Amino acid sequence: MASLLRSLPLTLPPPSHTPPRSRLSLPGSSLSSSFANPIREGSKERGFELRSTGKFGSFLELKPENKPDPLEDFKESVSWLDCGGKKRFDVVIIGTGPAGLRLAEQVSRRGIRVCCVDPSPLSGWPNNYGSWVDEFEGMGLEDCLDTTWPMACVFIDDGRVKYLGRAYGRVGRRKLKSRLMEGCVEGGLVFHRAKVWEIKHKEFESSVVCDDGSEIKASLVVDASGFRSEFIKYDKPRKHGYQIAHGILAEVDEHPFDLDKMVLMDWRDSHMGNEPYLRKSNSETPTFLYAMPFSSKLIFLEETSLVSRPMLSYTEIKKRMVARLRHLGIRVTRVLEDEKCLIPMGGPLPMIPQSVMGIGGTSGFVHPSTGYMVARTLALAPLLAEVIAECLGSTRMIRGRPLHHKVWNGLWPTGRRCEREYYAFGMETLLKLDLSGTRRFFDTFFDLDPYYWQGFLSSRLSLVELAMLSLSLFGHASNPSRLDIITKCPAPLAEMMGNLALEAM
Ligand SMILES: Cc1cc2nc3c(=O)[nH]c(=O)nc-3n(C[C@H](O)[C@H](O)[C@H](O)COP(=O)(O)OP(=O)(O)OC[C@H]3O[C@@H](n4cnc5c(N)ncnc54)[C@H](O)[C@@H]3O)c2cc1C
Repeated sequence: MASLLRSLPLTLPPPSHTPPRSRLSLPGSSLSSSFANPIREGSKERGFELRSTGKFGSFLELKPENKPDPLEDFKESVSWLDCGGKKRFDVVIIGTGPAGLRLAEQVSRRGIRVCCVDPSPLSGWPNNYGSWVDEFEGMGLEDCLDTTWPMACVFIDDGRVKYLGRAYGRVGRRKLKSRLMEGCVEGGLVFHRAKVWEIKHKEFESSVVCDDGSEIKASLVVDASGFRSEFIKYDKPRKHGYQIAHGILAEVDEHPFDLDKMVLMDWRDSHMGNEPYLRKSNSETPTFLYAMPFSSKLIFLEETSLVSRPMLSYTEIKKRMVARLRHLGIRVTRVLEDEKCLIPMGGPLPMIPQSVMGIGGTSGFVHPSTGYMVARTLALAPLLAEVIAECLGSTRMIRGRPLHHKVWNGLWPTGRRCEREYYAFGMETLLKLDLSGTRRFFDTFFDLDPYYWQGFLSSRLSLVELAMLSLSLFGHASNPSRLDIITKCPAPLAEMMGNLALEAM
């Protein structure tokens, strides 16, 4: 960050003040290295001036200038698959996103022979991940957050704002990926640069067929290829909700947000005063602004539909964002990065067990009510690694169906499946709320005992605690909010109870 600001002395004055606990200028942090060259070739200051938006222009006219840099430093130190040599491993992991790489690091540390296949294993991760700081502290990974805010805030409407005493952080993508890569290198993991096309199974062995013609055999194949995976099977209709969002890391003339608070949700809609069409659609399917202010001039802004079904259109999201930023007086002068976020949420779990193991976006890990996943995946991967090591480690050799049974049930024991039903119920309830209902819901939710709202957001509550949370929510709710619960929840509640009964059988 500091290097970014230093590199633009003519166009950007230094930030007016520094947020109390933000780590804005860690030397060598992923933030500073990702943006070491914030202005791309051919876009020097003159180009920057030309691309600046006019007073009433929109940030949509600006092209994103950066993409995350690849981790070239690992090119020499990692082991690459010798295509002429032996291609038999204990485990093949498809994908080097946060899920695949964390599992790869954890499994290879336990002495298991692992090959990780991805078209571009050293690429920088494209998404801007955020997480609660305590979740990363719990795993000893807090130094992989490149910026932290001591508080978060939620704007319910123009008159009400909630201040949440829970620190939030932005994941240093490069730092986290480097940390996991180092573990993989130490564990002797082998990478293969290819796309997996097909997975074949025999009784005790599977093999992946890649687009370069190679075929790699293993006792277990784990699919960590993200939401679009076609390798994981479902035995129930996939009734997802969708989180859709448009995000930009932007340089701005100014913004109105405090630097010591990240904005978890801004549900204000005063920007729609002159936009009757937008106001109507927003009151039916609301969106909020999520913002991480890094300095007075640099901010990550994301207009987000928490969950919708059918999915809200991406164009609609962008229109709302333009109207909101204009109303807030945020003039974007440069878009450093942008992201289109589309996250399938809820729906059934994959078929359990099945011959391919899944982790991350492929395995139902996304929190059905929030869309968050990274911290949970990082936390659960060691548990799965332990089960894999128990089955494939040197002392025991459990393969085939018993292995698939153990790994799937290790990751998704009955209790965790039941808890997920509850979180999916939360999503189904949110889907039924319009803007007024959503505001009433969060107004009550964030007034709950922090143990409950924090536990809910971090998937930490047991089924009994989730039931307590429901009672507490009902007890604290306003009368209109209670009416929402009584009139809109029976169908999702009945569905959840049915699914819980099936899980218990
Ligand atoms: C824009 C965006 C923002 C998000 N922000 C947050 C956030 O702030 N906090 C949070 O907790 N969650 C967030 N999420 C949700 C979730 O955490 C991410 O989607 C996360 O990246 C999922 O991790 P993953 O490892 O499962 O999959 P991915 O990160 O998608 O990685 C999949 C990997 O598999 C590879 N691959 C795909 N197909 C194949 C194939 N056939 N063969 C070989 N390799 C293959 C890909 O190249 C990729 O490297 C966000 C999601 C998106 C889309």
